[in-house]
Amino acid sequence: MYWNEKFECMPEEKLKQLQLRYLKEVTAWVYERVPAYRAKFDEKGVVPADIRSLGDVVKLPFTIKTDLRDNYPFGFLAVPMNEVFRIHASSGTTGKSTTTAFTTDDMQQWGECVARTIWAPGIRPGDMVQIAFGYGLFTGGLGFTIGSETLGCTVVPTGAGMTERQITLMKDFEVDGIFCTPSYALTIAEKAEDMGVDLRNLPVKASVCGAEPFTVAMRKEIEDRFGIKCGETYGLTELSGPGAGYACEAQEGIHINEDHYLVEIVDTETLEPVAEGDKGEVVLTSLQRRAMPMIRYRTRDISRFYKGRCTCGRTSVRIEKVYGRSDDMLIISGVNVFPSQIESLLLDINEIAPLYVLMVSKKGHLDKLSVKFELKPEMYALGSEKLKEIADRAKSHIHSNTGINVGIEIAEPMTIARSEGKAVRIIDQRCKRLDSANSEGHSSI
Ligand SMILES: [Zn+2]
Repeated sequence: MYWNEKFECMPEEKLKQLQLRYLKEVTAWVYERVPAYRAKFDEKGVVPADIRSLGDVVKLPFTIKTDLRDNYPFGFLAVPMNEVFRIHASSGTTGKSTTTAFTTDDMQQWGECVARTIWAPGIRPGDMVQIAFGYGLFTGGLGFTIGSETLGCTVVPTGAGMTERQITLMKDFEVDGIFCTPSYALTIAEKAEDMGVDLRNLPVKASVCGAEPFTVAMRKEIEDRFGIKCGETYGLTELSGPGAGYACEAQEGIHINEDHYLVEIVDTETLEPVAEGDKGEVVLTSLQRRAMPMIRYRTRDISRFYKGRCTCGRTSVRIEKVYGRSDDMLIISGVNVFPSQIESLLLDINEIAPLYVLMVSKKGHLDKLSVKFELKPEMYALGSEKLKEIADRAKSHIHSNTGINVGIEIAEPMTIARSEGKAVRIIDQRCKRLDSANSEGHSSI
């Protein structure tokens, strides 16, 4: 039933004891070895010995991306460099990149967390998996590689891109699983249709997607077009990359690998823990890592805890699927909206393809949102009257659900850029800052 029943289904009390032991160890570890952490602890007047219960975690200082940038590249390293097995980094589109480092033990833990992730939608030891995430400093490709190796799979490391070849290899090698970003999965599906390949007739049975937010509608589209079960991973470069959490077969929220990560949800303004079930910012502490552990890392991801045990039998806490990073939130005429909400609403309309761009501009003092999307291939040919009807329907559906009046543009077929990794969904023309949603999102796995 599970890849690692002992930890995935550990009784709550036992899990809490384990987490407390790890939390004590990791706080002592960083306090002794990382001057930047020691300074932050001292400033808050807290020492590792103050951690006597899990609740005491709130006494510890938060860590934010700026801390990592200020101490770039290796100020947060807690071991000598000759004990570092691997370094990864975020792309740094919006400034200095943030780095993360692994000891050999850290690598094993990473492999374990990702193995649980890919087991969940049905990948098993002995399966052949195609890894179509980017390789390199980005954690996607190599993270899924170590997870697949840990599980005992045969790895086909295609990396992202060369979409025709991806499909040819899937077919020729008879792969069982494919891992990539959700937008790239759809690019593959579209190309396969062009090539006359019905993915549903191939042996591939499961995928795991991640590294960009994706909606339930998008997941169902992938499952339908590939004829597979689609899992999901959650993670950030700073916290190792993929594998901090994963969707189980029940597909209700994201199980956090709690023996590796302590998760909190805090109010974005007060930074106090939110009331049960309320939304807030996800804060993660890496419990077992040694090279560059993160203490109370503010992810900027907005989510909430799920109540109760999951039907799958795993005991780990679940958070709601992360639909957006607080940095990604658009404020249009005073209304807060996540790009993924717009995606979800667009995909409620049957004729619309999951290919869209959101354009934000300023008209006078007002922010204006325009949505440009493609239709499913056979729809565009139905003529201008039909197109106008679809556009009106989309506009009114978005308005009635968000209160925002958006401009609508139906793009000609094949004019919106196809993604080979992280899709560019937002064009923010309001000011020249580079840190619009998608560029900042690069730090997610
Ligand atoms: Zn579950």
